[in-house]
Amino acid sequence: MNANHYSELVELDKKHFVHPTSSIKQQQEFGPAYIFTEAKGVMVKDIEGKEYIEGMSSLWNVNIGYGREELGEAAMEQIKTMSFSNAFYTFSHEPGIRLAEKLASISPGDLNHIFFTSGGSESNDTAFKLARHYWILKGEPNRKKIIARKQAYHGVATGSTSATGIKQFHTMTNSLAPDFVHTEALSVDALRDTIEAEGPSTIAAFIAEPVMGAGGLFYPPEDYFAGIRNVCDEYGILFITDEVITGFGRTGSLFCMDHYGVVPDMMTFAKGVTSGYFPLGGVMMSEKVFSVLKDKSDGPLFHGFTYSGHPVGCAVALKNLEIIEKEQLVQNAKERGEELLAGFKQIEEEFEHIADIRGKGLLAAFDLFMDRDQKTRFPEKMAPKIMDEAMKRGLICRNITYGESDTVVFSPPLVISSEEISRLLMILRESIQVVLNKIVVG
Ligand code: PMP
Repeated sequence: MNANHYSELVELDKKHFVHPTSSIKQQQEFGPAYIFTEAKGVMVKDIEGKEYIEGMSSLWNVNIGYGREELGEAAMEQIKTMSFSNAFYTFSHEPGIRLAEKLASISPGDLNHIFFTSGGSESNDTAFKLARHYWILKGEPNRKKIIARKQAYHGVATGSTSATGIKQFHTMTNSLAPDFVHTEALSVDALRDTIEAEGPSTIAAFIAEPVMGAGGLFYPPEDYFAGIRNVCDEYGILFITDEVITGFGRTGSLFCMDHYGVVPDMMTFAKGVTSGYFPLGGVMMSEKVFSVLKDKSDGPLFHGFTYSGHPVGCAVALKNLEIIEKEQLVQNAKERGEELLAGFKQIEEEFEHIADIRGKGLLAAFDLFMDRDQKTRFPEKMAPKIMDEAMKRGLICRNITYGESDTVVFSPPLVISSEEISRLLMILRESIQVVLNKIVVG
């Protein structure tokens, strides 16, 4: 690295690059935290040539790992053949048709009809609009409320910001969308109480992440979603699951709802569908939802993004799904995930401040406590310190510190090997040791 080149980039970043979910003040004072330059498999390199194990798949999305040339070739092929074509006015194209069919064939139950978007936020906003449209068509236009959960993360568009239950994401605006209600997470009774309090005939849909991701990585009790499905059916409310993080193998099954054996009425997806090689997402609809749109509506669906079903994105997604299947990455996620959890358990035995280990497949976390038996927390958050030490030693992980949480999270690419899991655990152990030793000494 050339020092002039580096300082030029830092200055230009500060001057012109406004970073998402970042402190502008911190950027102006310290410049960008890292400038990454290269990535291959599960390894990422920064501008100083330092290598990191990618323990987060970037933003939980690089499922097949970095630098797979087949995806570049699929994109190139499609760009050469037809770089773009829209899907409005029933214009269509083969990559979109093939991807919709593929997704219908691998998704749970009868989620057979796909509306494409460019990402997770757009997908959730689309699902809310579709749910309300469904009720308008069924002659119940008062059903417009969307029930979401406290601590949920559904994105940052207007509807998805309003559905998001992490309060920090509401601080940027003083004008959230109307008709969003939040209920306690992980409790079927709480949903029932909220429905009763709001009035069942005013509610269009309930939305939940199968595993609460950004809000703290919380897995539900095993029978939670079966209970939710029953309550939604009892009150005739549509049930939407947000598989933006959990889709495409992340939790050791193709979709997380496969673990719970429950089929929602709509399912949103993004991230892992292309492993981040192209921005693409969408909403899958069940026959129940689609048949109402089909039978009761004459006019067009007045909804669509320029890039709904981008042919290059669809071609990339098809190749990505082929790789996930061919290389049995869902099975790998399950097996490597067991190794990751076993490693966390060893760390828990060694360090008395670690507890609440949870995970399925390659989506796992633990929490830090001052006294884990009493569940008392440290006066200051430890997870960010562990993350800093891990980054210094060449491991990317993430911390979540909303409210009581003091959580370290991992979501590595599904291609990770046993050796790479061992190395990840070794660096993690060292990082924890350094942080906890400082507390004992200091
Ligand atoms: N839903 C969930 C569960 C997510 O984790 C995210 C992004 N992390 C989103 C929706 C929003 O997706 P996007 O950032 O692609 O808009």
